[in-house]
Amino acid sequence: MGNQTPQPKDWIMDIAAYVPGKAGSDDGKKLIKLSANENPLGCSADATDAMKAAAASVDRYPDGGSNALRAAIGAKFGLDPARIICGTGSDDVLQLVANAFTGPGDEVIYVRYGFAVYEIAAKRYGGTPVVADDRDYGTDIDAILAKVTDKSKLIYLANPNNPTGTLSSADEIKRLHDALPSHVLLVMDGAYAEYLETDEDDGALELAKTAENVLITRTFSKIHGLAAERIGWGYASAAIIDAMNRIRQPFNVTTAGQEAALAALADDDFVEHSRDHNREWRDLMTQEIEALGNHGLRVVPSHTNFLLVLFEGALSAEAANNALMEKGYVVRWLPGQGLVNGLRITIGTEEENRGFMDALRSILEAAD
Ligand code: PMP
Repeated sequence: MGNQTPQPKDWIMDIAAYVPGKAGSDDGKKLIKLSANENPLGCSADATDAMKAAAASVDRYPDGGSNALRAAIGAKFGLDPARIICGTGSDDVLQLVANAFTGPGDEVIYVRYGFAVYEIAAKRYGGTPVVADDRDYGTDIDAILAKVTDKSKLIYLANPNNPTGTLSSADEIKRLHDALPSHVLLVMDGAYAEYLETDEDDGALELAKTAENVLITRTFSKIHGLAAERIGWGYASAAIIDAMNRIRQPFNVTTAGQEAALAALADDDFVEHSRDHNREWRDLMTQEIEALGNHGLRVVPSHTNFLLVLFEGALSAEAANNALMEKGYVVRWLPGQGLVNGLRITIGTEEENRGFMDALRSILEAAD
């Protein structure tokens, strides 16, 4: 017998692990975290109560089928609960679909500035990532279609997209789907879908009702403010959901998570209030940052709860990121995803937003 240490599969060492944004400072200084697209208003009070009540049953396994939650999601969105799968965050669902449908030799397509987990999920099962170019930070449907080959298995598309905040219209999504060969599974990631206005609906949910090759994913981490509980869900054809159910962890959503999500889903007022707050501050901050255009700043029009600010003048995004950090504001600089000249800034509370804008202005003035 040799004395070799255990060796992971070759392609594992080619994966750059997901690096989360900074959560706290090293020297104990209070930091304002505008880096993870969380809800600055917290979560529904009903969800908090539900999580407290769930503490009474920590000694029991959760409902492995998330049955009550799937029924409630089905009722809310007009979907068949049997075609819904719940996951440990939507990350879980995004990885399960790659696990079930891709392997060595398969190609997985996503856009150039796409969510970091797509690359990990693509490589994790031995697939080959294929990156479609953007069009001025927006999703370019033709560029995606140009990448489709016989080997394509999966397309990941967040709409609205993270980290750019851009939206593809229902017509664009339909055009993409219509042109796809039926062997390609289109994964429409709707992590930020709740931030859209009614007339901005991209039609993904309706498409998934009838198409055999569309999976939609949603999360409770964003507008519902339950990021720590890790609850997401997916909806697709019975065959796709069946495959994913066979390989998921049997108890992938905690009892507290299921109960919190149920309460959050029923609290329309909280969601509406969150959307209103977000819209108001997103518009205001967009205007205020655009007004700093003489410093070379540009905002990519956002349909989400964050702004992608491009630094095209003397001050680089990296320098701005460091200076903001000095002042206690944590935002997201994503050079690892090729976004060297941009910062992604989550909309915060009124106080956080005002403080951030003051900090940004003083940094720009100091750099003049
Ligand atoms: N998709 C996108 C586009 C995201 O931005 C995120 C969170 N950053 C997720 C999925 C995953 O969210 P969660 O696992 O918390 O549901």
